[in-house]
Amino acid sequence: MLAEKMKEIEILVSACLVGKKCRYDGKDKLNKEVIKLLGKRKYIAVCPEVLGGLPVPREPATRHGNKVITNYTKRDVTAFFKVGALKTLQLVKKYGIKEAYLKSKSPSCGENGITTEMLKKQGLNIKWF
Ligand code: SF4
Repeated sequence: MLAEKMKEIEILVSACLVGKKCRYDGKDKLNKEVIKLLGKRKYIAVCPEVLGGLPVPREPATRHGNKVITNYTKRDVTAFFKVGALKTLQLVKKYGIKEAYLKSKSPSCGENGITTEMLKKQGLNIKWF
């Protein structure tokens, strides 16, 4: 029964866009347009950085080439971002998801984010907000 329900999930969404307080600053980025577009569609809300093992709040980080470095203490957090991206990809494959609404300008979910890179390779149709 549960497996059947999960199969119905059609879209992946950045968790902060639907009101989860998972951003680096402990806040959300609730987006009314996203909520409206989702309507009654079944979606799964994921925060790759939290999935990767990073806490909330956390130091903001920026992508530099293949690495992700925290903005102030200059810590290499690439491994956390990669684990989060892989776990997100696993969910996409598990449920056969073909579409995603992601948060723009994030080192994970943004247009050039680590998670985005993997989702693009998987052929997902992605919109950023
Ligand atoms: Fe939002 Fe993605 Fe950043 Fe998580 S990793 S806070 S879902 S933009």
